[in-house]
Amino acid sequence: MAFSNSNIQRELLKDNKKPYTHCSDCQESLLNKLHHVEQFYGRLSLDEDLKLIFGYAICGDCRDRLAKKISIKTLQNIDELKNSYTKLNDYTRIQLEYALNKEALPPIKNCTFTGTPIHQMKEYQVSAVIFRENQASEAIVYGEVFIKDFEQCLSEDTKDELDDFFNRIVDLPPSLKDLFDERVLVI
Ligand SMILES: [Zn+2]
Repeated sequence: MAFSNSNIQRELLKDNKKPYTHCSDCQESLLNKLHHVEQFYGRLSLDEDLKLIFGYAICGDCRDRLAKKISIKTLQNIDELKNSYTKLNDYTRIQLEYALNKEALPPIKNCTFTGTPIHQMKEYQVSAVIFRENQASEAIVYGEVFIKDFEQCLSEDTKDELDDFFNRIVDLPPSLKDLFDERVLVI
């Protein structure tokens, strides 16, 4: 299978160049496996361009394993957050028309939940479901206000689990670790 001509938005490509080929956690091949990609963008001031800070791909098995470690308290908090952000209810919707290349993917421009344009933000996260060389879901954009609200939902136990996960899969220089202490993973 060729990974050229992929139907994946640049913001979701590894190093903004090519699709991920292996799970960042278990290192298994992602060929023919539905998986998630998540990338983190940031800048220190609004005058700079938003840059890719880091990203990862995670296979279904690893994602399930991680989801089981999320505390009940966190899940309850996230449930309540859905009252403020109704789009949280259907963010995992898989839209096969994208995978079949029948519909153009909407550009990554605004927070999915608040509508705030990313050009007004110092950081944002973006994720999507990928299958073969195609995006199988619309990109979900997590703006900085949403990220802060989501962070409030995480119990201490869940934060520890997510820290373990990120420390395992991402090799960040300490300066960037400080910048990204509010990283979240939306299960
Ligand atoms: Zn994996």
